[in-house]
Formats: sequence, structure tokens, C-alpha cells
Amino acid sequence: MDPTQDKVIESLLKAVSRTSMLAEGTDPELDATLQNIRTNLSKSQSPEVLQQTLQTLEPLVLSFDEQRLARAQAFRGQLLDLIDSVDELPNTQMLPQAKKQLEADIRKHWQSVSSWPELLAKTVKLVTNTLTQPTTETKNGSLLGRFFRRKGDQSPISKNDSEIMSHVSHTLAALLANITLPDIYRDQLVDIKNALTGNKDINHLPALLDEVINLIMVAVGKTQEDLTLYLSQLNEQLASINASIIANYKAQRSMSSTRKDLGETFQQHVDSTQTDVRNATDLNDLKSLIDERMHTITEAMTQFQDKMQNQEKHAAQSISLLKNKVNRMEQDATQLRSNMQQKIAQALSDALTGLPNRAAYQEAIFPLLTSATQIKQPLCIAVCDVDHFKRINDTWGHLAGDKVLRIIPRQMQNALSKESLIFRYGGEEFIIVFPMTAIDKAREYCEKVREAVESTPFNMNGDPVSVSISIGIAQFNGKESHDELFSRADKNLYKAKEQGRNRVIHDN
Ligand code: GH3
Ligand code: MG
Ligand code: MG
Repeated sequence: MDPTQDKVIESLLKAVSRTSMLAEGTDPELDATLQNIRTNLSKSQSPEVLQQTLQTLEPLVLSFDEQRLARAQAFRGQLLDLIDSVDELPNTQMLPQAKKQLEADIRKHWQSVSSWPELLAKTVKLVTNTLTQPTTETKNGSLLGRFFRRKGDQSPISKNDSEIMSHVSHTLAALLANITLPDIYRDQLVDIKNALTGNKDINHLPALLDEVINLIMVAVGKTQEDLTLYLSQLNEQLASINASIIANYKAQRSMSSTRKDLGETFQQHVDSTQTDVRNATDLNDLKSLIDERMHTITEAMTQFQDKMQNQEKHAAQSISLLKNKVNRMEQDATQLRSNMQQKIAQALSDALTGLPNRAAYQEAIFPLLTSATQIKQPLCIAVCDVDHFKRINDTWGHLAGDKVLRIIPRQMQNALSKESLIFRYGGEEFIIVFPMTAIDKAREYCEKVREAVESTPFNMNGDPVSVSISIGIAQFNGKESHDELFSRADKNLYKAKEQGRNRVIHDN
């Protein structure tokens, strides 16, 4: 094979093998096949291997599509169930027009994974509106009371409360079971599922729904769709590349057979000329004989050159086609990679505060603990929780609460050194990680953080309102698990709350 083509095939195989890594982590069977593809490709560089690769990829892409359809059907069923179960609740009125419109939307868009977050958001909005809308008979009833009251039952909190809540939780949990999440979300998923099943307080439902939506956004985003599309494109590209390689092989073979033909023709001419020369008696005969042979040979030579030029032109064209295809595959892969990176960045940051979120904390803390052990350096974590935050929401409204949550981390940041890391762990809880810092220093920093928050006047409708936070600190002992470390810090936070809030507590 000529060296240019060798290079092209080599970079093509590299591209296929590298891009196949992108599809990993979606499905165990797919992973195994992709791994197999890479092993095959690294062992051999023949078109037969590419063809085999192609054959294994094809059924996989098909089954991937089937799975997607099944998931979408389950998703549609669960949304419609959720709407119906809320509509059937006692003392609630779901607007029939809104319900009809949403059901129509779901029926129209359920197949497109990228519409899921929007459908889900609309469903949650309708459900929340229905649950929070005052109805005529219970104008003064609390949300809790209304939710837990059966139709025709005026007594607050019936004994079937938990049944209703468990129905809603069950539906949401089924929704979550239907999604594939990266490993780093496993803990969060378990937490939400526990919260869903263990929760009887309807006031927590909107927050839980929010978390469910966030997870689903992460899980579906456009990643799945991108991936399926990418796999089928990869499949097509492999098919056409395979075809050009085979065509090239044939061209190569016919080139060498053309060369062989020419050699044979020459040999025949030389043989017969030798015989003829030996038998020739007359010089003139000999001259015309040689003239004639020279003519035939020149003609064969010209024909050969034409044929070779033609074949070379074809080969060059198909090599440049091949190069383009490889380039396109690389571009597609880069695009997909950058989409995924963007998705991951989004998934790791908290929209309200811009801080890295709980998933980011989980990703960061384990390597930090490992390295603290390895380099034998101290590390502290501080769990911070806003005091009486519910009151702020209740008194000044949720938007004012949000404003407080946006400002607090900025004040915290100002009081800390560049080395400390702040995460929004959830609701009104933040975690500070102090790498290479022992407990005394961490406590000094936390005191500064506490004072900075306490001395910030928050403007609520023109009134200055002061807000405080409580902090629990623990220093990593180099041997314990993350959960043990976290639980020590959390216990200290609990003590700070118990002892009157607005204080920092650490282990002695
Ligand atoms: P404590 O001092 O014991 O921590 O009391 P608290 O009121 O701060 O604690 P509690 O856990 O009872 O209430 C926390 C509240 O924070 C409940 C929840 O609705 C609210 N919350 C959680 N996340 C957000 C958010 O993103 N924005 C707003 N505005 N409120 C939130
Ligand atoms: Mg809290
Ligand atoms: Mg609090």
C-alpha cells in the first residue's frame, strides 16, 4: 500500500478508536462492544477489520434506538399519570384547558428527548399551580391541609395522607428510575429517592420536584440524542470509508496487474524479436522488423502510461475523499466532546449563586482527601447553614430569600483566602473546604466568615435586615472516610444551632 494511504488509514483508525470512547458510559453492552472495537482496531489495519467493526456497530445502534423509544414511552406514561393523580386529589381544581393543552403537548413531543425537561417543567408548573391555587371551599386552608384532605372530607389530615404522598413520590421515583445518570450523581439520586419516600410534608414537594427536574435535565439534556445521532453518523461514515478503502485496494490490485501485463508484453516482444533477428537473412528485413517492434513497444508503453495515469488520478481522488471524511469525523467528535463538556460544566454549577454545587463537591472532595493523606497535610471542612432562613422566606418572600443566598457566598468569599473552596451543598447550606489548613486556622477563617455575614445589612424593601449563619468544622484525621469527616462537621453545626446559632463550633 502506498505510504500516503497508510497514513490516512492510520489516522482514520485512530479517529474511530478515539471517537468511540465518547459513546462510553451509556450502556454496559455498548461499552463492551466499543472496547472490543478499539482492541480490534489497535491490532490490525485492514479493511476487513473495519467491516467487522461496522457489522457489530449496526445492531447496537438499532437496539439503542429501541431502548430510547421504550424510555420515552415510560416517560410519557409517568407524566400523564402524575397529572391525573394530582387532578384526582380532593379539593383541588386543575384548569381543564391547561390540562388538555399539556396533555396535547406531551402527546406531540414525548418522542423528542430534548423536549423532556420542558415537558416536565410544564407538568410541574401545572401541578404546583393546582396544588397552591385556593379553592372556594378551603380559601383559608393551608396547602398542607388541602392536599391531605380527601374529597368530601372536611377534617384536616386524613389517615390516608401518607398514601397520597406515597403515590406522588412513587410516580416521581419511577421517573427517576427511568433515567441514566453519571456515577457522580448516585448519592444525590439516593438522597432524593429517600427524601421522596420518607417525606410526608407537602411543603417540601416543590423543592423535591425542582431537584428531580435538575437531575433529569442533567440526565437527558441533549446528550442521549447527540449520542444516538453520533453513533448512526459514525456508522454511515464507517460504511462509506470502508467502501472507499475496498475500491482503493481494487485499484491497487489492477495497477499491479497492469504493470505485470506490461512486463509480460515486453517479454513476449523481446522473445519474438530475438527469434526473428536470429532468423533474419536480409539487413533491410531486419531494419523494418525492428522498426515495427519498436512501434508496437512504444504503443504498449503509451497505453500503459495512460492507464497508470488514470488509475493514479482515481487513487488520488479517493484518498482525498478519505481525508475529508476523516476530517469530518474528527470535527463531529470535537463538537460532541465540547457539547458534553459544556453539559458537565452546567451540571456542576449552581444556577442561583454561580457556585460549584453538591455534585462538584462530591467530585472534588475525594481527590483532596487522598492527596491530604499522601502529602501528610491537614485539611478541614466547614458546614455552614443560614439561621432561620425559613423566616426570611416567610417574611420577605422567596425572591428576597434568593437574593440573600446570592449575596452570602460573596461575603464569605471576601473573608476567605484564595485556597479555600466554597460549594452550595443544597438549599441554604454551604460547604467550605480548607486544603492544607489545620483546625485553628480554619476556625479563624470561619469566625471571619460568620462576622462578615452578620455585619452585612440586607436590604429588604428598604429596611436593613441582618442575617446570620452557623458553622460546624472538622479536621480530617487522615484515616477516616469522607462520611465520617462530614458527619463530625455536621454534628458541630447542630451544636452551633442548639447553642443559639450565629456561632462556629469545632472539635477540640
Ligand atoms: P435553622 O436556623 O434551624 O437552619 O432554620 P431554617 O429556617 O434556616 O431551616 P429550615 O431547614 O427549616 O428551612 C430552610 C428553608 O430554606 C426551607 C426552604 O424552603 C428554604 N430554601 C431552600 N432552598 C431555597 C432557595 O433556593 N431559595 C429560597 N428562597 N429558599 C430556599
Ligand atoms: Mg438547612
Ligand atoms: Mg437554616
